[in-house]
Amino acid sequence: MRASQLFAPTLKETPAEAEVISHQLLLRAGFIRKAAAGIYTFLPLGWRVLKKIENIVREEMDRAGAQELVLPILQPAEVWQESGRWELYGEEMFRLKDRHGRSFCLGPTHEEIITALVRNEVNSYKQLPLLLYQIQNKYRDERRPRFGLLRGREFIMKDLYSFDRDEAGLEESYWKMYTAYSNVFRRCGLKFRAVEADTGAIGGNFSHEFMVLADTGEARVVFCPSCDYAANVEIAQSVPQPLHTPDEQLPLKKVSTPGKRTVEEVCAYLGVVPQRLIKTLLYEADGQLVAALVRGDRELNEIKLQNALGCQKLKLAEPEQIRKIFGVSVGYVGPVGLEGIPIYADLEIPYLVNAVAGANADDYHWVNVNPGRDFLPANVVDLREVRVGEPCPRCGHPLEGCRGIEVGQIFKLGTKYSEALRATYVDEKGKERPIVMGCYGIGISRTMAAAVEQHHDEKGIIWPVSIAPYQVVVIPVSVKDPLLREEAERLYKELEAEGVEAVLDDRDERAGVKFVEADLIGYPLRLTLGNRTLSQGTVDWKWRKNQEEEAVPREGLGRRVKEAIQKSLEELNAPGT
Ligand code: ATP
Ligand code: MG
Repeated sequence: MRASQLFAPTLKETPAEAEVISHQLLLRAGFIRKAAAGIYTFLPLGWRVLKKIENIVREEMDRAGAQELVLPILQPAEVWQESGRWELYGEEMFRLKDRHGRSFCLGPTHEEIITALVRNEVNSYKQLPLLLYQIQNKYRDERRPRFGLLRGREFIMKDLYSFDRDEAGLEESYWKMYTAYSNVFRRCGLKFRAVEADTGAIGGNFSHEFMVLADTGEARVVFCPSCDYAANVEIAQSVPQPLHTPDEQLPLKKVSTPGKRTVEEVCAYLGVVPQRLIKTLLYEADGQLVAALVRGDRELNEIKLQNALGCQKLKLAEPEQIRKIFGVSVGYVGPVGLEGIPIYADLEIPYLVNAVAGANADDYHWVNVNPGRDFLPANVVDLREVRVGEPCPRCGHPLEGCRGIEVGQIFKLGTKYSEALRATYVDEKGKERPIVMGCYGIGISRTMAAAVEQHHDEKGIIWPVSIAPYQVVVIPVSVKDPLLREEAERLYKELEAEGVEAVLDDRDERAGVKFVEADLIGYPLRLTLGNRTLSQGTVDWKWRKNQEEEAVPREGLGRRVKEAIQKSLEELNAPGT
């Protein structure tokens, strides 16, 4: 490609709306343009990167024995009604009607449509296992589309579905995908970590997320440096840390705490540590009120609560609602005498002796509250959010934390969709059984942005060679000099003949301008031709990721570039790097 012909409009200024570096750089370097909130055009450079990522994904899926197909984006409501998700999916689903008034949606995911396909086409155990995938646009009307490609409303996903005869088959498919995903992200040149994850709206009971490690990541991860435990904090298990308190239970006493609502205010006023306070949070779970208790020094993890309750919708009860029902302001709610609503207590709560809690009356707290004596929780479950430094639930070593961008997630679905849509097969003994399923997604466009989040500097993008739009840029310092121009042209042809993906910057621009742009776009290798090329027969060779530039012989350069690129690709291909 000649830079003079390349449609890659760069921007001098950083667009104001772009908060994160990947969004800024992809806009500035001419990879993407915004069409509407969360909807982007991929310009030629951006499209090339996407294709590279797609092809790595495709190779790894095919290697795992999967077959590619294409499912419709426009999906009839009926299959979603069969699974019950037409209602459940809520506002994230783009819905529309055809001219006859029939309801459709733009596929946010494809469990329903593929299960409906497989139920019609697969009848016998002989047709299983089956791994089917596609790479195409997904549509989700995200509440907050932001961060450019990281959270779009139209985005590109690889989604794969596994169909097995039984749990053992699913187990095999699942770990096959786990390995394939690890290969994909390693080959894309990304530092990543697989972590245990919540299953959310997709359902199922076992899941891993693949996180690209980046400080700007939305996800928080804890991991154990000593064993292999790693989990999204959304589900990371916390081991109770009982407080050392006297055993003797004292009589319950109501004390005045005028205007003291927050944990800090109450503790300071009563002279107790926050560990001794019971924090009571009232939630509405699918329209029902529940109380959730954690210690004053802890944060409640809403996903854990939601999973414990098994509800679809969970939100904090409004202060006005609490006042109407209990006649008290939020800060004074407590579990003692809280009639008629189930209490979910965190695992640490039963260890408390002579604790402090709201008295369900404005300006009063109870002291010497003893769980079990003064109130009975309906359930004692793990509800608190894990913190860095706490012991690993597997081996006890202090946990460490990091941030990540979720680029992929794999799920064991079991028979959730096959039962709802009656996708069954007949086994060897002639018995009808539901197909056992798994689903596996990779955010292709999000991976592109995640790569930029991880690989950039103050000058621009530093593409890993495997997903770079072009591998090499050839820069003649001047095109006015006909000899230099011809020499650059010759090198460019030589590279093309070797199968190297090269851009020749043939524009009549100052060398400095070309360098700045090459650094912004992030070509992995830069070859500069200047006066020494003509006088001494050398070319300046510089990897984007390194500082040093080195003069190399012009003779045989095409072949050496080819070999160097090949070597970098092979390093990414090799497992264990
Ligand atoms: P998130 O929690 O970030 O919303 P998700 O759990 O809803 O993601 P999945 O349904 O598991 O995502 O989709 C599979 C993959 O698709 C994700 O791992 C992610 O890489 C990508 N993805 C999901 N939502 C978006 C989005 N709005 N924009 C870009 N990529 C997305
Ligand atoms: Mg989502």
